[in-house]
Amino acid sequence: MSEFAVKTENVYKSYQSGPQKVEVLKGVNLEVRSGEVAVIMGPSGVGKSTLLHIVGMLDRSDSGRLWIRGQDVSELDKPGMAHMRNDTIGFVFQFHHLLPEFSALENVLIPSMIRDEKNADKAYALELLERVGLKDRMSHKPRELSGGERQRVAVARALINKPQIVLADEPTGNLDKLSGEALYHLLLELNRELGQTLLIVTHNEHMAENAHRLITMDDGIISGQQLAGRPKS
Ligand code: ADP
Ligand code: MG
Repeated sequence: MSEFAVKTENVYKSYQSGPQKVEVLKGVNLEVRSGEVAVIMGPSGVGKSTLLHIVGMLDRSDSGRLWIRGQDVSELDKPGMAHMRNDTIGFVFQFHHLLPEFSALENVLIPSMIRDEKNADKAYALELLERVGLKDRMSHKPRELSGGERQRVAVARALINKPQIVLADEPTGNLDKLSGEALYHLLLELNRELGQTLLIVTHNEHMAENAHRLITMDDGIISGQQLAGRPKS
């Protein structure tokens, strides 16, 4: 089991919307191996974000099981989930969610401070900012950065606690084509260098071509899961 970074078994999730119960996930079986780049594709509304939230332990399934790096986390309580999440998972969302009052450097540092206030890893935050090409922008506030730069700060923030798994939900959804391509290049390079598992929801062809695993979702289930263009060594 431990070669799987992420595994789900028969995951169900529904939302109560007024009087109506909407079934969003209808038995999802997902397997992503350690170090893989896995791309999830599928039409809007089929449950991709819902699945990512459950895998990232931001939300809980109604039933089914979830393993993270071989550990069954299905029964963890809320603090247990939060602890596991902070230790293991980095998120990049469609909208950057940077805090407007803080500099790029501070935004990258915040998850490290939350984890251990006295030992926030400023040196690594600077290293990451340099790695995403923004060392000279470290004092800029989010409003002083372009959309692409904000997302690159968000990537650095996602990596500050050295997560083994990075989840990205349409991270270039708000970017122009060029900035989007640059962000995908960066994510792929970081996967090669740091070896984290990357599970990413995207419609981007370039990303799909460079993934190890292609997952297609349709109406609450995984309708296809295949090894992709780039074989995992
Ligand atoms: P995708 O990311 O594939 O576009 P989502 O996972 O965001 O799909 O949403 C799947 C379905 O679940 C949609 O019909 C959406 O309206 C519904 N949904 C998502 N989140 C909630 C929520 N918090 N409450 C009620 N319905 C929701
Ligand atoms: Mg979505």
